[in-house]
Amino acid sequence: MRIGFPRALYYFDYFPFWSGFFHSLDIELVISPPTHRKIMDQGLKKASDETCLPLKLLAGHIQALEDVDYIFLPRMVSVEADTYTCPKFLGIPESVLSAVPEGQSVLTVTLNWRNSKRQVLKDLEVLTEQLGKSKAEIRQAFNKGIEWQKKYQNSMGAEWDFEDSLNKIESASWDSTESGMSFAPLGWKERMISKIPLSFDKAEKGHLAVGEKSDRLRIALVGHSYLTHESYANLNLLRKLHEKVDVELVQNLRQADIEGHLTGLRKKIFWSHSKQIYGAGNKYVEDQRVDGIIYLTCFGCGTDSIIQELVSRKAREKHKPYMLITLDEHSGEAGLVTRLEAFLDMVERRRVHEGYVSAYGERLDSDSNAL
Ligand code: SF4
Repeated sequence: MRIGFPRALYYFDYFPFWSGFFHSLDIELVISPPTHRKIMDQGLKKASDETCLPLKLLAGHIQALEDVDYIFLPRMVSVEADTYTCPKFLGIPESVLSAVPEGQSVLTVTLNWRNSKRQVLKDLEVLTEQLGKSKAEIRQAFNKGIEWQKKYQNSMGAEWDFEDSLNKIESASWDSTESGMSFAPLGWKERMISKIPLSFDKAEKGHLAVGEKSDRLRIALVGHSYLTHESYANLNLLRKLHEKVDVELVQNLRQADIEGHLTGLRKKIFWSHSKQIYGAGNKYVEDQRVDGIIYLTCFGCGTDSIIQELVSRKAREKHKPYMLITLDEHSGEAGLVTRLEAFLDMVERRRVHEGYVSAYGERLDSDSNAL
């Protein structure tokens, strides 16, 4: 059996889980190629105009999957206690059914981690019939998925980016499987258009101690994984940044760092990704080693319309340079490069020439000697 897995949206966070799950069931996963112009165009034709860019890309990736028995479109209701995924996640698969080629079967399952692990296991058992597997096999596959997801999560912050993390897990799995089978079939590695070095500054310079500053600027990139790692849609922003500065990435933060910075709100954040972004944003605002923050969002993102505002207010309060980049299908590279250079110049000038006080805004620091 061959199951198509779109390289979009939940791929960038939960692919290790699904990969382990299907690998354990001896089912081949076919991943759509990295985003290119045609995938984007096909997505735009089939997705609703009003939806966000990642959903449009998902619609394109669905159409890029060929020669598969099913296209896998899980409905991920919740991935942890007390939070939900965003409403547009919840609308999958129905909201993207128009992109599924006629006659193509869809495999779906509803996952709600909010209700406990037992509930998730029960949810997954609905797949037994379609996949021709027993409940015991599904349970075993679930455990394998969890194991691979944990491996991936444990790698966060340890100099891997998403694709590099998969690489490492893949080689680990290679060592541990009797058959010697790769968990990511069809040579997805070979089909990667670009591989971004994960370690950024850390591999080159070693980890910085708290309070220590490198000579290079250090910029934090904050946003959803499917935007920060989606190099076609973000016009290679991560690579461009990396060429010029040291980069901190929200997806490389450990959960404890996120949890420790969910302060200043009257109520808990409702959406899991937003919680991560808000916690990371707060951490970077307070981190003296971080010289500036870039918030990467996309046109049509409902949750970011709130979280972005909260992070930007924090940044303003603490005089931390901050820039918002909003992506959509019309984003142009020249505009992005100009804005990026202007922002980095401003941060550099502020650090080098102005005694590290804000040169713009309501006021200068009272103890500053800058005019
Ligand atoms: S969080 Fe925003 S970008 Fe992500 S699916 Fe929801 S609306 Fe789209």
